Amino acid sequence: MPAIHELSQSLINKIAAGEVVERPASVVKELMENAVDAGATRIDVSVAQGGLEMVRVVDNGGGIPADELPLAVASHATSKLAEADDLFRIATLGFRGEALASIAEISRLVLRSRTPDSASGAEIEVTGGSVGQVAPCGCPVGTAVEVHNLFFNTPVRRKFLRTTATEFGHVSEACTRIALASPNIHFTLRHNDKPIFELAASDGWLERIALFFGRELAESLIWVESHDDAIALSGYAAHPSQSRSHNRMQYFFLNGRYIRDRALQHALGEAYRGLLMTGRYPIAFMTMQMPPELVDVNVHPTKLEVRFQDSGRLYSQLLATLRGKFLTTDLNTRVQSAGGDLSGGEGAGDESDPTGGHDAARAVQMRQQLVDWAKGKVASWGQGTGERGPGTGVMGQESEDNSRGLTAPGEATAFGSRQPLELQPLGRSWTPVADAPARAPSALQIHNRYLVAETAEGVTIIDQHALHERILYEHLRERVAAGAMETQNLLVPEPVDLGPAEAAAALENRDLLAELGLKIEPFGGDTVLIAGYPAMLANISPVEVLRALLERILSEVKRPDRRDLLDDLLHTIACKAAIKAGDRLAPEEIAALLQQRHLVDDSHHCPHGRPTALVFTREELDKQFRRV
Ligand code: ADP
Ligand code: MG
Repeated sequence: MPAIHELSQSLINKIAAGEVVERPASVVKELMENAVDAGATRIDVSVAQGGLEMVRVVDNGGGIPADELPLAVASHATSKLAEADDLFRIATLGFRGEALASIAEISRLVLRSRTPDSASGAEIEVTGGSVGQVAPCGCPVGTAVEVHNLFFNTPVRRKFLRTTATEFGHVSEACTRIALASPNIHFTLRHNDKPIFELAASDGWLERIALFFGRELAESLIWVESHDDAIALSGYAAHPSQSRSHNRMQYFFLNGRYIRDRALQHALGEAYRGLLMTGRYPIAFMTMQMPPELVDVNVHPTKLEVRFQDSGRLYSQLLATLRGKFLTTDLNTRVQSAGGDLSGGEGAGDESDPTGGHDAARAVQMRQQLVDWAKGKVASWGQGTGERGPGTGVMGQESEDNSRGLTAPGEATAFGSRQPLELQPLGRSWTPVADAPARAPSALQIHNRYLVAETAEGVTIIDQHALHERILYEHLRERVAAGAMETQNLLVPEPVDLGPAEAAAALENRDLLAELGLKIEPFGGDTVLIAGYPAMLANISPVEVLRALLERILSEVKRPDRRDLLDDLLHTIACKAAIKAGDRLAPEEIAALLQQRHLVDDSHHCPHGRPTALVFTREELDKQFRRV
C-alpha cells in the first residue's frame, strides 16, 4: 500500500463538494440559504439549462465586506459559528462554512457583494478552486452569486445528471421548500429567462401554498396547532379527499429549515389511518419551532435530516394534534356548488333530529371513546391483552347476543360497560329495533347501491357497501384491540392446498392470523389446516378468507410492520364481509345499517378511504333551487 499522506486542499474540497453538491438544485439550495441567513427580504433566482449552464442567486441581504470575500469562498470559513458550543444551538441555515468553497471547486463562481455601509461593491472569481483577486465593482447592497459550468472538472458527476427538465424540476422543488419555509421573503424564479414564479412577501402561508399547489388543495387544508413548554407545532393538513400516491407532499419545517423525517412521516400516516385508500399518502405542511439545543442539525451534509433529542415526543405531539383535530372536524364530503360558499349546516335548529336526542348522548360517548383511542389508551392494539369486554367472551353466548339484535338508541351506557354491537353481516339477521320503530332512521335505497336519507342538516347519500365495510372494520378493530376476536373451532379441521409461497406465509404469520381468529396448523407439504375460524364471519368460507388474507400478506413489497399488516387484514375481512353494491336490502336492514352509522367511529369513510356519504345541506338545496 502507498504511504499515508495529507490530501491537498483542492482534493478535500472536491470530496466535500461530492457530499454537498449532488446536482444544480443543491447549488440553488445552498445559495438561497445563504441569502436567507443574510437577512434578505427579496431573493431572485435564475437558472439556465436546468442550472447546468448557470445558476444565479441575487439577494438584498447584509452583504459581505470586500476584505472578507476570499474567506467566504475558503473552506471551513463561516461567520455563523464562533465557538464549539454554538454548534449545539444553530439558529442559521448554514454553519459548516463549506458550501461556497465546495461549489467553487467544481465550477466557475463569481461572487459580488456590497454591505450597506460601503459606497461600492467588490467581486471575486473562483474557477475550479483557484481563487482570483478581489476587484471593485458597482452593485446594489446585497449579494449576487453566479455559478457557471457546474461539474466541468468532475465529468463523472456530470454524467449522472438527468435531462434539463428533470434538473429544473429539482431546482424548482428546492426553491419551493425555501419559499415555503420563509413566506415573508419575496422570491422569484426564472428558467432560461422565462419567469416561473414570482411570490410577493406575504404573511399568509396559505396564500403561498395556494400559489405553488393550487387553490383546490389550499381550500382543503385544515389548520392545526399545538404547543407544550418546548415545542410549538402548527400548519395545515389536507382533507382526506386530497392525497397523493407518494409522500413528497409532506412538508416539515423545523426552525425554518425544510427537513425529511421518517418518524414524522409515519406519525402523519398514522393520523390518517383509515381515512385514505391504501397506497395513498396524506398531504401536510407543518412547521415546528423548538429550542435549537433540542435538535442536532449536524448529522447530514445537506442538513436534510436532523436528529431530535426526543423524537418520540415530537411523534406523539404531531399524532395527537392531528387526531384531536380530525375528531372535531366534519370530514364528510360535502357537495359544493361552483363558487358556492359552504358555511356549514345550521345545526339542529328548529328541525328535530329524526334520531332524537339520544343520539346526541351517544355521540358524546362515541367521541369520548375516540378521544381515548386518540390518546393512545388502546396502546395494546393488536397485541391481544386478553382484556375482554362484557359479552365478548365465550362462544356459547354469541348467538344469544346476536339474537338481541341492535342496541336501541339511548340504551347504551358508558362505554366501559357498553355491550359490543353484534353484527351478522352475511346472515342478514338484522332485526329492527323492536322498541323504537318510530324513531328508526329511514332511507330510500336507489339502484341497489345507495341509501338516500333525510337528516336534520339536509340530505345524505350513503354508499351502502362503503358504510357497512367501515362499520365492520371498526368493530373488528375494537375486537382485535381487546384481544376479543372469538374463534369458532371447527369440529373437523379443513385442509387447504396452497402454493409454496402461500403455505410458508400462512405458517410464518400464524400468530397474526390467530389474533384475527383464524387458527392455522401445518399439515405437511403445501397444505395447511384451518382449525378455527373468526366467529363473526360465520357465513363466508374459511378457505376464501384465508386465501384473501394470504394474498394481502404476499402483496406487501417489503415486510410491513405487524400493526400495518393487521390493519390491512382487517380491511380485507371487512371488505369481504360487507354487503355489496347491488344487494337489495330489506327495510329493516336499511334501518339497521343507518342506525349503526351513528355508533361507529369515523363513519365518514370506508377503510379504503372512499367517502361513505355525501351530504347536501338544506341550505345548499335551497340555493340550488333558488329559494334563497
Ligand atoms: P456557511 O453558510 O455554512 O457559513 P458558506 O460557504 O455557504 O458557509 O458561506 C460562507 C460565508 O460567506 C457565510 O458564513 C457568510 O458569512 C458569507 N456569505 C455567503 N453567502 C452570503 C450572502 N448571500 N450574503 C451575505 N453573506 C454571505
Ligand atoms: Mg451556506
